[in-house]
Formats: sequence, C-alpha cells, structure tokens
Amino acid sequence: MKRFAKGRRVILWEEAIPTDHDKAYYEIHVFADDKVRSIRPRIPRDWSAQQSEQAQAGMLDDLLALQGGPKPVLWFYTPMMWPIGAHVAADAVVYDCMDELSHFKFAPPELREREAALLKAADVVFTGGYSIYEAKRLQHDNIHPFPSSVDGAHFAQARKGLPTPADMAGIPGPRFGFYGVIDERIDLTLIDHVAAARPDWQIVMVGPLSKIGPEDLPRRPNIHYPGGKSYAELPAYLSSWDVALMPFAINEATRFISPTKTPEYLAAGRPVVSTPIRDVVRHYGNLEGVKIADTPEAFLQACDAALALSKAPQAWRPEVDRMLADLSWDSTFKRMDRLVAEAVQMRRSRRAPDRFAAPGIRRGGSRPYDVVIAGAGFAGAIMAERLAEGSGKRVLVVDKRPHVAGNAYDLHDKAGVLIHQYGPHIFHTNSEQVVDYLSRFTAWRPYEHRVLAQVDGKLLPMPINRTTLNGLYNLNLQSDEDAAAFLAAQAEPVEKIETSRDVVVNAVGSHLYETFFQGYTRKQWGLDPSELDKSVTSRVPTRTSLDDRYFTDTFQAMPKEGFTRMFERMLDHPNIDLALGADYHDLKPSDLAPLTVYTGPIDHFFDYRFGPLPYRSLQFRHETLDQRRFQEVAVVNYPAEEVPYTRITEYKYLTGQVHDQTSITYEYPSAVGDPYYPIPRPENQILFKKYEALAQQRDDVIFLGRLGTYRYYNMDQVVGQALATYRRLAERMTVQTGAASTAAE
Ligand code: FAD
Ligand code: UDP
Repeated sequence: MKRFAKGRRVILWEEAIPTDHDKAYYEIHVFADDKVRSIRPRIPRDWSAQQSEQAQAGMLDDLLALQGGPKPVLWFYTPMMWPIGAHVAADAVVYDCMDELSHFKFAPPELREREAALLKAADVVFTGGYSIYEAKRLQHDNIHPFPSSVDGAHFAQARKGLPTPADMAGIPGPRFGFYGVIDERIDLTLIDHVAAARPDWQIVMVGPLSKIGPEDLPRRPNIHYPGGKSYAELPAYLSSWDVALMPFAINEATRFISPTKTPEYLAAGRPVVSTPIRDVVRHYGNLEGVKIADTPEAFLQACDAALALSKAPQAWRPEVDRMLADLSWDSTFKRMDRLVAEAVQMRRSRRAPDRFAAPGIRRGGSRPYDVVIAGAGFAGAIMAERLAEGSGKRVLVVDKRPHVAGNAYDLHDKAGVLIHQYGPHIFHTNSEQVVDYLSRFTAWRPYEHRVLAQVDGKLLPMPINRTTLNGLYNLNLQSDEDAAAFLAAQAEPVEKIETSRDVVVNAVGSHLYETFFQGYTRKQWGLDPSELDKSVTSRVPTRTSLDDRYFTDTFQAMPKEGFTRMFERMLDHPNIDLALGADYHDLKPSDLAPLTVYTGPIDHFFDYRFGPLPYRSLQFRHETLDQRRFQEVAVVNYPAEEVPYTRITEYKYLTGQVHDQTSITYEYPSAVGDPYYPIPRPENQILFKKYEALAQQRDDVIFLGRLGTYRYYNMDQVVGQALATYRRLAERMTVQTGAASTAAE
C-alpha cells in the first residue's frame, strides 16, 4: 500500500474499535514514514454488528464526499468488510484474498456468503499463495496468485549481525525462533515435544496470542514467549536465532496458507524447519536451507540438520538468494498495479449486446458488379477483400444470414458476454502466410485450447495423454516410454486402416476407443466410427507426454476483438457491397455479375441434380449463468452415448473476457438444420465428385469453402484455399486484361 500511495491516495479502513461514547465516530491515523492514512472507526460498545456496519458505510460515504475526486478503487482484504463498501460506485473492486478465512477458528457464519458476494462483484482477485489460488480458481475469471514477496534489504540486516534484543540476551543458545500470530494454526504439542526432547535448546515464540489464552500454551523453562514485536524489530530477533521455525499444525486452517515468513526467514539468512505446509513444500521444499518434517521425530532431526547448516551458511545461501531475487515487493506491486489499471479500464468499457443492422442490403453504389459472392464466411469474405483491394473489382457479397463471418460469427449476447453463435471457433495454424494475411484485420490474443472429457465421473485431458491414462486407470506412468509401452500393450493392430474406428483401435485398443471415441462419434455424426473415413478421428492424436493442449500448431490465438470485428474490417471497402439476409438464388438480374464465387453447398447450386449431399448439423443451446466460472476449461466433452450433447463450451476462456456472468453452449448433433459438416465417407466423395465435374464445366462460377468444396476444413485451411484461389484468378485476370488492352491498341 505504501507503493500504491505514491501514485494514488490510499486510505486504509481498519477494523472498528469499541468506544464508551454513545455515538460512532472515526479517528484518522497518519503513518509517519509514508503517505498511507488509516481510518479507525470507533463504535459504541453495545451496538449490534449491523448497526456498526451501517454506521461505517455512512462514514465511508462522508469520507469519499469530503475527498472528492474520481471514483475510488475498493480493495478488500476480508469479505467481512464487504457490507461497508458494497454500495459505493467504484472504479474497480479488488479482493485480495490472503487466507481461506472461513476455515479459521471462530469464523463468522456470514463470511462465506459475504465472500460469494464479494467474488461476484470483484473485478480482479489476488490470492496470497498458490494453494489458495487453486482452491478459488473456479470462483473467479480474473484471479491471480501472488506468493509472498519479501522486503529483502530489511531482513538481510540480520545477516550482518544486529545487537541482540534485550529480552533475548539472557537466553543461552542455540535458539530456535518463530514469529507470527500464535493461534490454532500453531502446533503447540510439537513445540512442547521439541522442548522436552532437547532441554538444552531454547525455543522462542514471538507474536501475539489470538483466539487462544496463555493457559493453552505449553510451559517449560526452555520455551519463551516475548510477545508481539514490530516489523522493524524482527531482523534483530532473527539475527539472534540460529534456526527459524514454522511449527504449523496441519489442519483445515493451514491448508491454504502461504506463510510470508518463509522468504523473510531466508532473507535473514536463517535455515528454516517447517511442517509440510503445501505452499512451503511447493515453493521452497527443494532448497537445501529449508527442511520439511512431518512427524515430531523428523522435526527434531530436521532441527539438528538446520543447526548444522547455520554454522556453514556459505554452502546453502547462494541457492536461496537466487530464488529470493525474484520475490521483490516492487515487482509484485508492478504486476498488481497493472491488473488494477486493467480492471478499471474493463469497467469503463463494459459493453452492451451488439445490435446488428436489420437484415437488408447495404449498398455503396458500385454496380454493375464484376463479381458476386455467395457467402460472407471466411471463403467469401477473403475473396471479396482480395478482389476489391488486390484487383480493384466491384464486388457484391450476399449472405442468407443477417450477419457476416459465416460460422465463425461471434456477438455479445444479452448479458454482454462475447459468444460464438455457431459453436466454439478456435483459431490455430502452421501457416505464416495465413497469419500474416489475417493480421491485417485483427490483433491477436494468445490462447492455447484445452479440453477435458468427462468419463467415469472424472475429468480427463483430451487428446489422450499420460495424465489421461494415469487418471483413468489409476496408474503412475512416469515417462513417455512408460506410456508408450502401456499403449502398445493396449493397441489392437489393424492391417489396413480405413475407418475412424481402425485408426483409434490400432493406436490405443478397444477400451480407450469405446471410452473416448465411440459414443462421441456416434452422437456427433449419427454414424458408427467404422462407417466414417479415417480422417475424422485422425484429427485427434494420442500422446505419451503430459502436453494437454488440444492443438500443437505454431500459431494459436484468437482475434483480439472477436471474429466478427475482423470480418467487418475485411469487408469495409468502397468496392464491396454487402447484401445480408439475402439468398444468392433470389438475386435480381441487375445484381448478377459475369463471375460468381459460391461458398454455399455445392449440391444446392446445382439444384440437387444428383440427389442431396449428406451434411451433419447441430442445435446449439446457449445459456447465461449468474456465476463467473462454470467449468475448468473452455470445452468439456461428454463422450457417453446417454448424454444427449457432445460438449459444453464456456466462452470466457477463449475470449479472456472478465464479466460477472458466464455464457455457455451445449451442442446437440442433429440430422436436420444448417449444413455444418460435410460427412467424410467414400460414397459421399463419389457423389461430390459428380457435382465437382459439373462445376468444372462452368467458367462463370468458382466453388470455395467447406460447403462449396465439401471438405471438412478448419478455418485456416479455408483461408489458405481462398488466398490460393484468388492468386490463380488474379493471374488469369491479368492475362485477360493484358489481352484486352492489346486488342484495343
Ligand atoms: P461458412 O462459414 O459456412 O460460410 C458460408 C456462408 O455462406 C454462410 O454464412 C451461409 O449463410 C452462406 N450461404 C450459404 N448458402 C447461401 C446462399 N444460397 N445465399 C447466400 N448465402 C449463402 N474451424 C477451426 O479452424 N477451428 C475451430 O475450432 C472450428 N470449430 C468449429 C465448430 C463448429 C461447430 C463448426 C460447425 C465449424 C468449426 N470450424 C472450426 C470450421 C469453420 O467453421 C469453417 O472452416 C469455416 O467457417 C468455413 O468457412 P466458409 O466460408 O467455408 O463457410
Ligand atoms: N472425437 C471423439 N471424442 C472426442 C473428441 C473427438 O470421438 O472427445 C472424434 C469425433 O468423431 C470428432 C472427431 O474426433 O468428430 C474430430 O474432433 P475435432 O475436435 O477435431 O472436431 P471439430 O469439432 O473440430 O470438428
């Protein structure tokens, strides 16, 4: 807060202090060495909690009115303060969650409710460690772990040797010290055990008592309780100790703690002995200078080892110092400050649902057209842009739908959450050319897609990887080789791999096939995998590594402001007219042009002359939920045949949007509806070839895209196809124009 106070006015609202007056008031406390001010509310002793909160809410309003200036950023260290500030019109709300307070002794029952309300309102959440981040991760969409920082220079004074504090002077060595609040988180039995086992060791417990009384403390001649000390005094105490202790009890209250004293002890150059607190083990457990002990006996041995270390600090301190170098308060402050600034920005730019112009024809008056394009998806829009910008052609783009972007269309729904109307579209490619081209119309937000499959009541990574195997079969495969050997034992070799069943069974055997592929594919395609071309399930690899990304392409990112915005920029050209909500087949003769680019279904263009080409469709159920997070990753697949949908998508993972609600989509495969997927099977290819032969006889039409060329293409492949098609066409046009001008001469 000292650091924040350099750029803003910082007012700290302390917990109320009872008073014997009959009116509530507040005192202003000024800290000598920085600009932070604190407010100390004084509340009549006999007032209820509710009266106290009401009075404080009123005081806060008065204070803000007096201060004037812009709206405040509200920063909460405890949800218990939420009722005091909830009503304030803030620029942003920060919840700095330092502990799982609800697990603490005597936690008030309303704490959980208040935390839920605060999490809903907060624009950004910080957690005071990694374990607590993991525990809260699914409750917020803009949550960031901040394991303890340390004021290195302050504690490093201890290494130089400071004068021994008066109350330590009479205590002989060796000294084992702890500082911190002494409450139910401290393993007092352990302290007693150590003191009893080693009467020649001195144990010093610095800190105030909380929630426990002096009568609860173990008493022995070699246990000392000097009481609480100020932050400024701590280095001197550390300097007088040989070993620093973290004798935490392993219980509910300590499950998520990330003790700041760990790096402080280390900065002071003391070896540390700790019980197995998760975040201590995780971040410091493999340092030579930190000993972790999970039984009283092991704790004694660890203290012996640490005492030995204290005599040869040069052996282990360099490693500690390398680690501490990254933990400065300055860098923590910089990251937090940036996140707060972003939160303020997000609140200011919060947007309402999109309102697209009513379906109709938007005309720029560039008729007669050189080219008319059916479809404003990737294929159509790119052709339009290239022909207009690259070749100066006058282009009309027609789409049946009242919007651009085809199946990649995204929009802000009623709640203001950016969703994909036609199911999740994740951009990934290995083609630099494709990225370069699209980057003319959009900036990007890096995003790596992850999918979990719900099987046997577990959520496991898809594509199958080592984690999937370990999770499904309760195995402990440690290496790629282990996993490869396991899969080889499962695999059922298929001599000639032709179908989507063959590919999978050949690689991973029937059980994994049935678990992850059979039901999903039957639902998705309405066909058994044995009836589908091998190319379909070949899209999903099997891995022996821990890589849990859905794609491994070199470029994985989402258009920063969404697909629709990218398309709008692509099509915003004086030579391009847009006719949305209009069917190509209903065009007036005046709208026609010598050349058509057709990106709708090819069989429809030819009036289904040889019968309809099979397509698979989907029905989407979009929902907005009154919570910030719904599931652990963007997409969860449901391979079980009994579940009617194939997957659920939560869009905020794709878009990075922060919003107090979240929108999700269920996908129900369907035989009827818009044609989304060409169905890859040999007989369908044969039928398509007949249409393709008709197409080849037509100089006046080019067929393009997923529907026009009946190919199960990803977006980047359609982009590549359109760019290549334009290049060929442009050459042809140059030759023609060249020929025409020669004739005119
Ligand atoms: P479309 O986007 O289908 O555009 C064709 C347009 O033509 C449509 O807007 C249609 O309304 C219009 N049209 C058709 N007939 C007519 C007519 N007679 N008159 C006027 N207009 C007409 N790809 C990825 O790379 N990553 C993904 O994660 C991904 N996820 C997908 C998820 C789903 C559910 C689906 C269905 C597809 C997904 N794809 C994904 C594929 C992606 O949608 C396509 O590759 C891409 O949209 C194809 O572009 P297109 O221009 O060929 O076709
Ligand atoms: N698939 C499956 N189980 C899954 C994921 C995919 O059986 O959990 C099969 C299914 O047949 C699917 C195909 O693999 O249609 C290709 O999956 P992909 O995610 O590439 O399909 P997309 O949704 O991108 O078209």
